Amino acid sequence: MTAKTFDAIVVGTGAGGATAMKILCEAGLQVCALNSGPRIDPDKDYRGHRQVYDLKFRGYGDPLRLQGKAHQEPYSVEESEYSEGRDLFEHDVAYSNGPGTDWYWKRCKATGGKANFWGRSSARFGDIDFKAADLDGFGENWPVDYAEISPWFSKAERYMGVASTVQNRPSNPDGDYLPPFPFRCLDYIIQKGAEKIGVPYLPDRCAQLTVPHNGHPACHYCGNCSRGCDVGSFFSPTWFTIPEAEATKNLTLLTNALVREVLVDENGQANGVAYVDRGSRKEVEVRAKVVVLAASCVETAHIMLNSKSRHWPAGITNSSGQLRKNLCDHLYGNPGYGYLPQLLGQPPRPDNIADSTISWMPRWQNLKNSREEKFIRGYSVYMGGGCGGFPGHYGQLEGFGSKFKRDIKRYYPATVGALIQAPSLPSPTNYIDIDPEKKDIFGIPQLRFHFRWGDNELLMWEHSKQVMIDLFKSMGAEFWGADDEPNRPGTSLHETGVCRFGNDPKKFVTNKWAQAHDVPNLYICDASIFPSCTDKTTTMPIVAFTMRTCDHMLDNFKRGVHKRA
Ligand SMILES: Cc1cc2nc3c(=O)[nH]c(=O)nc-3n(C[C@H](O)[C@H](O)[C@H](O)COP(=O)(O)OP(=O)(O)OC[C@H]3O[C@@H](n4cnc5c(N)ncnc54)[C@H](O)[C@@H]3O)c2cc1C
Ligand code: SF4
Repeated sequence: MTAKTFDAIVVGTGAGGATAMKILCEAGLQVCALNSGPRIDPDKDYRGHRQVYDLKFRGYGDPLRLQGKAHQEPYSVEESEYSEGRDLFEHDVAYSNGPGTDWYWKRCKATGGKANFWGRSSARFGDIDFKAADLDGFGENWPVDYAEISPWFSKAERYMGVASTVQNRPSNPDGDYLPPFPFRCLDYIIQKGAEKIGVPYLPDRCAQLTVPHNGHPACHYCGNCSRGCDVGSFFSPTWFTIPEAEATKNLTLLTNALVREVLVDENGQANGVAYVDRGSRKEVEVRAKVVVLAASCVETAHIMLNSKSRHWPAGITNSSGQLRKNLCDHLYGNPGYGYLPQLLGQPPRPDNIADSTISWMPRWQNLKNSREEKFIRGYSVYMGGGCGGFPGHYGQLEGFGSKFKRDIKRYYPATVGALIQAPSLPSPTNYIDIDPEKKDIFGIPQLRFHFRWGDNELLMWEHSKQVMIDLFKSMGAEFWGADDEPNRPGTSLHETGVCRFGNDPKKFVTNKWAQAHDVPNLYICDASIFPSCTDKTTTMPIVAFTMRTCDHMLDNFKRGVHKRA
């Protein structure tokens, strides 16, 4: 056991955890943050500025690199030869899938977590999301409304730096934005086609710096974002919150510290955590007056389910029985791809700026009436295109040899494709639990997923395929096809719900401040509290809700609800 008792422990240093530790440290609290993996070092770990032909395995990495690991499945996009050898991604801790489930759980265990490599889309949620249950009669409302949360979204946006425009869309409240990214040729073509079929095509809300912001330089459009930004021109804990927390000198950061459970006192209240030191494989205990869990949505619930005691035999703060339930995710998949003949023969330009699309189609369905479509709620779409570092359309073309290569080159400036982002609805079939038979290599009982897509999100998927056929026609594009099936559940990394928040302790795990109903000195700062999934991504809201939760917690310290160490 460590000798010192801290004011607060924060588990996880990702978007949620690092925001919490910055705010708490800046308020003068003594904070111990624990992170399951190593410290990331941008100089060594962000190796974006290299060509694939200079890499031994052309960017894909050594196919044998995961031999002997407990979890051998590679993680697409962000895990590649660019970050090989540094042990940034979780392959030692295995997880299980229940019968019929194929959950793909990508985990970055380095400090900063997944936001080292994220896509940066950062839209606000609105009352159409918070009050969705009132509108269509399904599920639970959120315990907050837009008027209450809007100032926290502004605070998060101003801190992170989000580029966009004011759009006056009913499903997408506007925020406090940096200048938007300029549209490219292909964006104008898509926008014109989309207009004809009544679909909006607008700048996304993107947490990437179009101008210098809060001491961070403007983006230089190298297009390497999903390998980590070497100058800190998009929001990530590595460049923003972690150094600011450290500058206070109030932070003790423990790396390679895999938290196993929350410890409780004789009254069942949190008084610390137990973790496995990966190096020595020894179990260590650290104590604090308040515990914040921010290990990412399902991992937070995993820790809570493993925190069993005589007070909490079904996992800590689970008197509602809702801990582990209501798992939601975004259905992802490509509902249409092809090329724009208008752009064939154009010289290739480095216009895959920022390594992703900078525009999107915000939800346009069920806006006037929540039941206009065959499905309830709604989805959004990101369109991709432009000349990226790697010609991603190679898999959409047939052939081999020199003709195949010529075709790849020919279509390079002209391809377009879509990505649907459709929220799943909470369902009794979708939850996590502890695998009764399996433990990981550190002796910690393993997490198990149970999940399948529901009819509602599959109807959205079919709807989006028809929209793409119409869109390709209206913009004069050639339609090559669409994915046969959506991506595997988990692919989006926007899971929500397993510790949902709400006012009634019998139905919800935490109150509206993300403070556990049963254990008021236990707080949650990640997307596990979100009671439903929306058509928007989760990270900016994680930061905003964390800021609000920490404000409430500091108030509780001031009022003596929580005592300092
Ligand atoms: C390629 C990619 C694209 C994405 N695009 C977008 C996007 O466009 N918009 C968007 O909003 N989101 C996007 N996301 C998702 C986004 O990155 C996550 O929503 C966000 O980073 C989650 O933050 P978090 O702090 O909750 O979790 P994480 O980032 O997972 O951080 C959790 C931290 O907790 C630590 N930890 C985990 N378990 C333990 C344990 N047992 N003990 C101690 N420490 C532990 C981990 O080491 C990690 O540092 C994307 C992600 C990726 C990878
Ligand atoms: S495109 Fe901009 S934000 Fe992305 S890695 Fe390059 S400089 Fe950083």
